[in-house]
Amino acid sequence: MTVLDLDTIDLDQPIFDPEAFRLSDKEAELNARARKIGQTNFAPRAAMYDREAIFPTENYRDMHEVGLLGICVPEEHGGAGAHFRGYATTAAEIGRYCGSTALTWNMHVCSCLWTGPLSDDLEMSADDREEHLRRRAMHYERIIDKGAIYAQPFSEGGAAAAGVVPFSTSAKRVYGGWLINGKKIFASLSGSANYYGVLCGEMKPGERPSRRDTMYIAVPADAEGVKVVGDWDPLGMRGTVSRTLIFEDVFVDDDAALMPRGVYYQAASRWPHMFMTLSPTYLGIAQAAVDFTVRYLRGEIPNTGPEKRRKFPTKQIALAQMFVMLQQTKALWFQAVTEAKADPSKEQVLRAYAAQYTVMENANELCQLAIRTCGGQSMLKTLPLERLYRDSRCGSLMLPWTAELCLDRIGREALYKPGETDD
Ligand SMILES: Cc1cc2nc3c(=O)[nH]c(=O)nc-3n(C[C@H](O)[C@H](O)[C@H](O)COP(=O)(O)OP(=O)(O)OC[C@H]3O[C@@H](n4cnc5c(N)ncnc54)[C@H](O)[C@@H]3O)c2cc1C
Repeated sequence: MTVLDLDTIDLDQPIFDPEAFRLSDKEAELNARARKIGQTNFAPRAAMYDREAIFPTENYRDMHEVGLLGICVPEEHGGAGAHFRGYATTAAEIGRYCGSTALTWNMHVCSCLWTGPLSDDLEMSADDREEHLRRRAMHYERIIDKGAIYAQPFSEGGAAAAGVVPFSTSAKRVYGGWLINGKKIFASLSGSANYYGVLCGEMKPGERPSRRDTMYIAVPADAEGVKVVGDWDPLGMRGTVSRTLIFEDVFVDDDAALMPRGVYYQAASRWPHMFMTLSPTYLGIAQAAVDFTVRYLRGEIPNTGPEKRRKFPTKQIALAQMFVMLQQTKALWFQAVTEAKADPSKEQVLRAYAAQYTVMENANELCQLAIRTCGGQSMLKTLPLERLYRDSRCGSLMLPWTAELCLDRIGREALYKPGETDD
């Protein structure tokens, strides 16, 4: 089906009913656009990307065609001008139909969200602001006009991606630009992105590396010295193709800086919800597990036998428990994404950790309940549930807000004020 035929299909109900959740018209329209293309085009392809562990290139072409690549590009630059919640609720709809597409789309969209609405909330000198606006316009033009795709490699295997120490991938100032050296692991979209939005530390002669000197730099995938190495045969999220990237004396010019000096550090300190952008994918998976279970028990999934399993009271109770868990997850998550802004209150930050933890853990719990409730046939590879189960397992591992780190932070920050000790 081409993206132009989408109005002819019988659509699933929205995850977030626009009236009930008081979505803006723009948010509702973006959610519907994602649901249409997800249901018609992404869902039928998802098994193939998973089986082959290949990047969903066709889905990205479709997203460009329907304007979703530029969802967070400001309207004056030709984008949809969505803010955090508009992106997050739309991404949940995509995650419902293809986890790998939604997860990689997060990496791409961050390049626009961080340089756009989020940077607009942060402090910069007038000169930096002027330069930033000029540079981001170039970056948006590539996305809107050419369909350029951005990856977001920050993981290095150590504590940097957890936000504890500076990145060891380095950016050295040279005439006319930067020289990048380092290695990034788990770089989703490797080999398929046009640009790698690399988080790296500026090397300052005679100074110790500092997280304050983190730079966010767009490295063209075809730049000399960029290599994709290693294989990719994981448990889940196989379509993300998250291989290892090597940067060896890669030169990029000044305009490759996606944020001025010091602004990434400011963002990470003042706009903490920026690290929640991986969660919508898993909220979509949670919804998909419940959707599937309802259809399965109603006897609507082809070739799973004549039995309508819904008549068994144990199945009804199990579905009810799943429904309760999904509603709890959606309500907390929606509240947290609605609160995303610069300088949130302590309670809002704790709620964001709680929402992230809840989505990542409950998505997997709902998938395992779905398998138990539907029964043996539901885990066959001809049906989507076993893929949802494998994909959902990855959510809790995603740095910097892994499920463990969210618990660590809630415990610590709820009990201590900044700087407070027991001495
Ligand atoms: C499908 C998938 C796609 C991904 N895509 C990307 C991507 O596009 N870009 C990207 O940058 N990353 C990506 N990641 C990586 C992800 O965010 C994590 O960085 C990665 O899973 C960490 O793997 P690890 O084995 O190094 O984890 P771990 O060993 O668990 O963590 C790495 C380090 O973090 C610190 N740490 C971890 N847990 C704790 C804790 N509880 N307390 C204190 N410190 C802790 C430690 O220093 C530890 O050595 C992806 C991961 C997956 C599974």
